[in-house]
Amino acid sequence: MNNINSYRVFEQNEKEVKNERDYVLYWMQSTRRFHYNFALEYAVSWANKLNKPLLIYEAFSCQYRWATDRSHTFMMQGMKEHLDIAAKKDLNYISFCEREPGQIDEMFMNLSERASLVISDEYPIFIINKSNQKYSQKVDVSYITVDSNGIIPLGITDKDPYSAYFFRKTMQKQFVEAYTHPPRQNPLEDLENDNEIESLSGVVNQFPDGKKALEDIPTFINTLDINHSVQPIEWEGTRQAGLGMLGQFIQYGLMDYSEKRNDPDENKTSHLSPWLHFGKISPFEIVRAIFEHQPEGWSLDKITYNKGSTGGFFNGNPEIADFLDELITWREVGFHFAHHRPDYDKFESLPDWALKTMNEHRDDPREWTYSYQEFAEAKTHDELWNAAQRQLRQEGIIHNYLRMLWGKKVIEWTPDPETALEYLIDLNNTYAIDGRDPNSYSGIFWCFGRFDRAWQERPIFGKLRYMTSKSTRKKVKLSQYLDKYGDQKSLL
Ligand SMILES: Cc1cc2nc3c(=O)[nH]c(=O)nc-3n(C[C@H](O)[C@H](O)[C@H](O)COP(=O)(O)OP(=O)(O)OC[C@H]3O[C@@H](n4cnc5c(N)ncnc54)[C@H](O)[C@@H]3O)c2cc1C
Repeated sequence: MNNINSYRVFEQNEKEVKNERDYVLYWMQSTRRFHYNFALEYAVSWANKLNKPLLIYEAFSCQYRWATDRSHTFMMQGMKEHLDIAAKKDLNYISFCEREPGQIDEMFMNLSERASLVISDEYPIFIINKSNQKYSQKVDVSYITVDSNGIIPLGITDKDPYSAYFFRKTMQKQFVEAYTHPPRQNPLEDLENDNEIESLSGVVNQFPDGKKALEDIPTFINTLDINHSVQPIEWEGTRQAGLGMLGQFIQYGLMDYSEKRNDPDENKTSHLSPWLHFGKISPFEIVRAIFEHQPEGWSLDKITYNKGSTGGFFNGNPEIADFLDELITWREVGFHFAHHRPDYDKFESLPDWALKTMNEHRDDPREWTYSYQEFAEAKTHDELWNAAQRQLRQEGIIHNYLRMLWGKKVIEWTPDPETALEYLIDLNNTYAIDGRDPNSYSGIFWCFGRFDRAWQERPIFGKLRYMTSKSTRKKVKLSQYLDKYGDQKSLL
């Protein structure tokens, strides 16, 4: 029926496909794009098989933990872009922003009553994972989720990878096979039955406010009971903006990536994490665009399995290899971990050595401790930490290298590691535009030892890897960064 690797397809219930019904329903939850989307491709193939039209339902919950004006605006900008495309192309597409809790549920259940089957996105964490579990039980037809998260299908691993090195071995073995089976660029082109689905207006008009929300995003958001203190950022949540960011990175950052990515003053990383998080851009299209910049004569044949070492695998440009190690190994290790570990966000999920060493140092005296509010307002004694937190508050991101320091210091300045973890998850997921992602948990839990190894023992940290602001200041270029976000320079 299609070429999608079975390791990407997850049957969520054992219910039947009802041929006599009106359409195939694709519920777009995390892979929010019409291109390079395995779930959409899979839904199209089902629609063709049953000779039915396809209904795409993209909705968005008004209330979820850490909901802010920032995350809502970014998401809704992407939905508005979809609404415009759908209108131009006459797609059967419903875009719905919930005003009151429960409306998404009602709308989805109503739509599912006319569906032959439901296809949705596989996503290992947070509300999407839970909603797939819940709705697959509530509907009376087959409910299938499809994984478009990364290059390496989630179903390939059979347990949680304990280190990046371990996962890199899997990645190296699977890369060529996975990469040469990409999602179709424009799956909707293959849809055979593009009849308009009749009498959907009854369902859609049920909540007229939600339908109108995208016409005036700020006004709609203002009426919601969410955290309004976290403001929208300058970047737009559209696919167009994400592709623009990719183009800029390839032009200005990629060839300096290895040398300059750690220097906050250089600004040479891709900044793609927000669009990756909201599913606006596919890792496949990023890798394809990046491969075009391999040296002449390079091809996939040059790739050699290298037992999990970082070098000597892609065997092309080293800058490209370094970038792809972040985009594939480091990004996807967290997705695979969460896929196998429902406790991915729990302190107890940390490796035994890390739990043991933190316990042994639980009562070590702390020179400084701060409340959540003091951290949130960047009121610590450390100018560099405060600068990183200010960048996070104002722009919704922290420079990659400083994000590690930012996380490590909270461990040092809280009464115990459990409190540190709770604060970090809340700070990250409230302010970061790319927060609430498997990568959020990889990054934060990495500070506590996940995917890492034991280092030399020290107070408070025990054997966890240790970082200091002093050595960071020596190691990376920061003067412009501190001019912009340092104490006195920036008003919160
Ligand atoms: C405490 C802490 C919290 C973090 N929270 C998040 C988060 O909420 N969301 C998030 O996407 N990332 C998070 N990270 C990982 C990393 O910092 C960001 O992915 C990266 O800074 C995003 O910037 P970029 O897109 O310019 O990265 P680039 O350097 O351009 O890398 C390209 C892509 O590779 C992936 N990547 C890069 N570095 C890492 C890494 N260390 N771990 C996992 N994936 C990586 C990201 O998808 C990124 O967009 C966190 C790291 C730490 C230490």
